[in-house]
Amino acid sequence: MRTGGFGKTAGMAVCEVCGNDYDKAFQVSTPDGDSHTFDSFECAIHALAPTCEYCNVKVIGHGVEADGHFYCCAHCASMAGAEGVADRA
Ligand SMILES: [Zn+2]
Ligand SMILES: [Zn+2]
Repeated sequence: MRTGGFGKTAGMAVCEVCGNDYDKAFQVSTPDGDSHTFDSFECAIHALAPTCEYCNVKVIGHGVEADGHFYCCAHCASMAGAEGVADRA
C-alpha cells in the first residue's frame, strides 16, 4: 500500500493517469503489491498494460511473455525471434 501521494484530499479517489476525481474510480493491484487508482479502463490500460515489443500495440488480452519480453500474440513473439512460444488460453 502506498500512503501519501500528490496532495490529494483524503478519501477522494483521483485517477493517477488523468487526474480526474471520480466517485466510481476503482483500484487495480499489480503482482508486485502496488495498487493504482483509475477512473476508467482506458486510463488503467494506459498505465499498466504492457506494450507488444514487436508491433507496439497495448497488450490488453492475455498476450505472450517470452524471456521477460511482452508480445500481443505468439505471431509477434515468433517474428521478434522468441522461440517456443504459443498463445496462452
Ligand atoms: Zn483517468
Ligand atoms: Zn504485437
